[in-house]
Parts: sequence; structure tokens; C-alpha cells
Amino acid sequence: MGQTKETITSTLLSREAFRQAVFDRDRFQCVFCDRPAVDAHHILERKLWPDGGYYLDNGAAVCEVHHLLCEKTAISVETIRQACGITRILLPPHFEADQAYDKWGNPVLPNGQRLKGELFDNPGAQKMLAKVLHLFTSWVKYPRTFHLPWSLGLSDDDKVIESLDAFLGQRVIVSEKKDGQNSSLYRAGLHARSIDGRHHPSQGWIKQFHAQIRHDIPENLRICGENLYTRHSIPYLALPSYFLGFSVWEKNICLSWDETLEWFALLGITPVPVLYNGPFDEQVVRDLWVGQDPEKIEGYVVRVADSFSYGEFRRKVAKFVRAGHVQTSKHWATQEIVKNSLRKKN
Ligand SMILES: [Zn+2]
Repeated sequence: MGQTKETITSTLLSREAFRQAVFDRDRFQCVFCDRPAVDAHHILERKLWPDGGYYLDNGAAVCEVHHLLCEKTAISVETIRQACGITRILLPPHFEADQAYDKWGNPVLPNGQRLKGELFDNPGAQKMLAKVLHLFTSWVKYPRTFHLPWSLGLSDDDKVIESLDAFLGQRVIVSEKKDGQNSSLYRAGLHARSIDGRHHPSQGWIKQFHAQIRHDIPENLRICGENLYTRHSIPYLALPSYFLGFSVWEKNICLSWDETLEWFALLGITPVPVLYNGPFDEQVVRDLWVGQDPEKIEGYVVRVADSFSYGEFRRKVAKFVRAGHVQTSKHWATQEIVKNSLRKKN
């Protein structure tokens, strides 16, 4: 009725309409064999979607046998889409378009290894992933930070936080956003935000730093912060350290700010500069930018002071970025390395 196919495939359906639309498209037959379809399979798990993910482009008609193989990720989401003739990749809003995922939202690396995603520890996911656990590294990709609605540095593929509701009535921490390389440190190793295994000469310093503290990092913790050894777009002339910490995670839980500071003190890590620590007030947060020099400061990050889960990150953390900020690391990675400078000690 005037609706194009494109709109129908990306329209949120009811559970029943989803099942019907998927079965109709796949002619009531399993897309992998000639058995009749018994399930409308969610290509990406419905728990990954804020709205349940009942979209035609996220569904596949399958028999019982193939349904289980899809759930167990023995059949990849790419293969499922292909079998259904789905050409458009539909992802939950907080997922990244250039990242491959398995059914449970675990990022899949080009070499076939997987990173633990937000549902990794979910009992349902654990049961289905039992046979492929050997493919997982213990690395966790740092979540994508959405922009605050008044952020000036939005580019086309950036996402804005859906609402500020999770901040209302909460104590929040607003810290300076530093322009370096997002890094995660574990007892067993370290990685940058994009886990591609490539070595960059600027990682020499962070590797040394990590070697000094790694034995004090408990097995189940990861320390996240900014590696500022190399100059990116903003020159820093008086840093207290080349590594400034902003969060500590215990498995899928980001620790409260107060607990984070205790860990930083124990490990000898300097936290990012805090611009505000108190009850959330939109005007107060907006005013933090007044009088700031955008040549010297990239922006700021707001987080709730309480702990929260990996899946809640997109609602409980958000950033303000200066206008015209260059986000990509490709820009500097190909250039000659220029070091930032540390504060002179008296
Ligand atoms: Zn089948």
C-alpha cells in the first residue's frame, strides 16, 4: 500500500507479524534445506536490540536442525543473510557498520577469532557458544561512546545518545576527553580500541608502562584509558603522565567512579582530569565548555558515578566533542611521530 520494500524490511514488526513476514519471504521453507520452516530465527539476538529486533531483515525461516546451528553460531550471520537474499545489513543502533558480529553480538575479527560482546556472559549465550569458546580472546573492545545532543563534533557515522534519562537524578562525573589512543590493559596483555594486531611505533611506551603494572592487575580486571605518548590532533605540553585512566572493568561491569579511583591509586595510574563531579544538571554540563580553548581541549565525557554494565554504556556515558575534530587514527598513524610532553617536575 504505497510502502516500498525497503521500508517494510526496516520497519519494526510485532512478534507475530515478524514471524509471518519471515515465513512469507522464505516461502515457509528452511533457507538451508527442503524441510518446512518451524522457526523465525533472529539473525542478531533480540536482546541486543533496544526494540527487540523484530525486523524482516533480521529474520530467517529455519528448520529445527538449522535453527540450532544458527544459534550455536556454526552458521555465520553473513551466511544466513545470504541464504535469505538479504542484501542490507541491519544492526542494533550501537553496533558499528564496519565490524563483523556473531549472532550474540560478539565482534568477529578478520582472522576468525572473536571478542567478548555484551551478552557473552549471558547464560543463554554461554550454552550456545559452548563449542566455539576456544575462538574467543579475552580482549573486550571498548564500547562506542555516543555524542551528547549538543556535541559539535558529530560526523555522519556518529550516533547521538537516545535520551539523557539515565543521567537524571544521578551523580555524574564529567572528565576531559583526551586526544590519544584508547587503550585497555589486562594482566595478560594490552590492546588499542581497534583490535587489529598491528603494531605501531607509538605503542612502545605503553608496552613498557604496562609491563611495570601488569602483575598488580587482577586476572578479571581491565584498565581503560588514553595513551597520550604520540601527538594526534591536539598537542599536549604538560601531561602528568602519558597514560591517563578513565575506567576499570570487572568482566562486563564498569566499576563505580569511586572504586575506579581506588584502583588507579593502587596501580599508580593518573586519572583523566575531572571537570565536574556532582548531581547531573544539563546546563551546568553545557557551561563547562564556556571559555574552553578548542585548540587545547577536544571535549568532555559524562558518565554516571555508579557502576553499570557493558550493555548500559550507550545510555550512561556520552561525549561532547569540539567542532571539526579529526576522529580517525589513520590520519596520524601514517605521519611521523611527534611526542607530547610531560609536565616538568619541580
Ligand atoms: Zn534446515
